[in-house]
Amino acid sequence: MYCVKCGVELADSEKKCPLCGTRVYHPDIVPAEAEPPYPPFQKPAEAINPRGVLFVLTVLFLIIAAICLLCDWNLSGGRIVWSGFVTGALALIYVAFVLPFWFRRPSPAVFVPCDFLATALYLFYINTILDGNWFFTFALPLVAGIGLITTAVVVLSYYIRRGYLFIWSGACILLGVYTVGIEVLINITFSVQEKLVWSLYPCVALFMIGIMLLVIALVRPLRESLHKKFFL
Ligand SMILES: [Zn+2]
Repeated sequence: MYCVKCGVELADSEKKCPLCGTRVYHPDIVPAEAEPPYPPFQKPAEAINPRGVLFVLTVLFLIIAAICLLCDWNLSGGRIVWSGFVTGALALIYVAFVLPFWFRRPSPAVFVPCDFLATALYLFYINTILDGNWFFTFALPLVAGIGLITTAVVVLSYYIRRGYLFIWSGACILLGVYTVGIEVLINITFSVQEKLVWSLYPCVALFMIGIMLLVIALVRPLRESLHKKFFL
């Protein structure tokens, strides 16, 4: 059956045309009682104001931190022993997952570096509390390295929409260098051995992937053929 006004095809169960609203009537066909072909229209739920949820979350974080600090202070005879770590970790989670939502349009160019900065501060705190007996010289370059690479990728992708092949190419090569850096740091910190053992393999692989992406980015016919095949 078709709508007399607009010609759209109608299901047998329809009482009126879904497109133009014309009443469906056919003198010879008795309208069948069947399941309607689409669910009834439902108004989308009204968006709740995120600020209220964020406020409650913030208070919850503060309550947990305060209870930890108080508990620690009570049990350790007026000193802060373990609760600093908990509070620091809570602050880190808050900065990463709650803080950006306070802003209407959180820019990753601001919040990604902030996350890594907060992580570095936390590491610094742990190192200070443990009187420098912690692998700060190992952990800090590790966090700083991955922080810089991630920040560069996120910020460049955010602002240069069409340059993603160049960005990922650079990121792959940098990650390759980073893996070698990790092994050098491990060797220095834990005095394992002098030469590089495992890091050269991922480094070479990442370097070659980076070069491949660069070639794809530069050679237009190649890029277009891959674009058709893989929707790159
Ligand atoms: Zn119609």
